[in-house]
Amino acid sequence: MIQTDILIIGAGPCGLFTVFEAGLLKLRCHLIDALPQAGGQCAEIYPKKPIYDIPAYPEILAGDLVDQLMEQAKPFQPGFTLGERAETIVKDEEDQFIVTTNRGTVHRAPIIAIAGGLGCFEPRKPPVEGLADYEDHGVEYIIKDPEFYRGKKVVISGGGDSALDWTNFLADGVASEVTLVHRRDGFRGHPDSVQKVLDLAAAGRIRLLTNGEVVGVGGEGQLETVTVKHKTEGEIQLETDHWVPLFGLSPKLGPIADWNLNITKNAIEVDTFDYSTNVEGIYAIGDINTYPGKLKLILCGFHEATLMVQSAFKRIYPDKRLVLKYTTVNGVNGF
Ligand SMILES: Cc1cc2nc3c(=O)[nH]c(=O)nc-3n(C[C@H](O)[C@H](O)[C@H](O)COP(=O)(O)OP(=O)(O)OC[C@H]3O[C@@H](n4cnc5c(N)ncnc54)[C@H](O)[C@@H]3O)c2cc1C
Repeated sequence: MIQTDILIIGAGPCGLFTVFEAGLLKLRCHLIDALPQAGGQCAEIYPKKPIYDIPAYPEILAGDLVDQLMEQAKPFQPGFTLGERAETIVKDEEDQFIVTTNRGTVHRAPIIAIAGGLGCFEPRKPPVEGLADYEDHGVEYIIKDPEFYRGKKVVISGGGDSALDWTNFLADGVASEVTLVHRRDGFRGHPDSVQKVLDLAAAGRIRLLTNGEVVGVGGEGQLETVTVKHKTEGEIQLETDHWVPLFGLSPKLGPIADWNLNITKNAIEVDTFDYSTNVEGIYAIGDINTYPGKLKLILCGFHEATLMVQSAFKRIYPDKRLVLKYTTVNGVNGF
């Protein structure tokens, strides 16, 4: 069981900044995110795009913003449960929340801060019969740890940046065999990554099957083969240990929708005094909340996080007085 002061659901920019603001008040944080890395939309959707409306940064790449937020949070030693979705929430006899993930990791905290953005990014799954039987038995939709594929035969499907980047990465001495299957001739990804894939294919270091798509999976309990339907060559059966379809992720509010919170149009209603929800001890900040005048912007989420932790402190320590201290005066005293 992971115990903390504030359990943050969602490690996007707003969740990460909460760690810093909570840390200034000596409150510890632990973050859960369904994605394998921190950074939310900035890391998953647009890491290489410049953002122009972060105060004091005339221009910053979204991925660099995440790196800076991680650096800023570092003194406060946040814990992370990554690649797991917060699934259920209950209260124990000591008035603490128990949050369990889809993989069974249990967390306990007096305060919950939902910074779930647009919700969980669910993988777009291809319509292949029997696919669910092989999930976590050779079929994965997200590559969490490339080491998992060391020495293995891997088939990757997709034509975007994830498919291209992982093909290039795994072919570089990690997997024993890499096949990239894409249903078109052209790719959507970055031209440099496309060229690298084409070069690897020309050098015989990967197998590239364009104009084809995986239509079947087979194996005794564990994935052993995939069947590719090719435009001109017909059906090709490939022996493989893994199939990783990388067709993108689409956000869904997910399990949070069943947590008895007041929800309007897929967003959690909050009181703008402290961004509390209708359930005492649960707050919602960033893109996931709604109130009159709400703007889904990172800087608004930072403001919400700052006010929210003040209220959280008072809930945890009702008898302690909270005095606002400037960081210029007090410094950043980590744990
Ligand atoms: C292309 C693009 C460009 C943008 N440009 C700008 C810009 O220029 N300026 C600006 O201010 N904003 C911009 N935005 C919006 C900005 O990215 C969002 O406002 C910001 O990411 C919200 O941060 P967040 O922390 O609230 O949520 P998110 O970044 O969405 O992160 C939420 C995290 O919560 C996780 N999560 C959700 N539910 C669960 C669960 N049950 N269990 C575990 N994890 C969960 C998700 O996996 C996700 O990682 C842009 C957005 C896009 C898509």
